[in-house]
Amino acid sequence: MNELQEQIRLAEKSIKTRPDWVSRAAHFEGSNTKSMTNHNASKLSAMRKKVSHKCPVCGDAFEGIKKAVYCSNRCRQKAKYQRSKT
Ligand SMILES: [Zn+2]
Repeated sequence: MNELQEQIRLAEKSIKTRPDWVSRAAHFEGSNTKSMTNHNASKLSAMRKKVSHKCPVCGDAFEGIKKAVYCSNRCRQKAKYQRSKT
């Protein structure tokens, strides 16, 4: 009976004398939660609808949101410039 109590006391002592293990576990838990949040964010952005388009300026095929017309801001400005020119 005394032996059992001694074993419990030793076990408690070993836990208390290892604060680095506890902090490491806490750090792991924290980083795991963080990565899960990142995963959810990427999942959300992937859910946004993207449609295949062909840029009327450079003719490149690209994927963008439904209302996108040009592949880039550069092409959009180029089209705007060409419209005003003619
Ligand atoms: Zn383009």
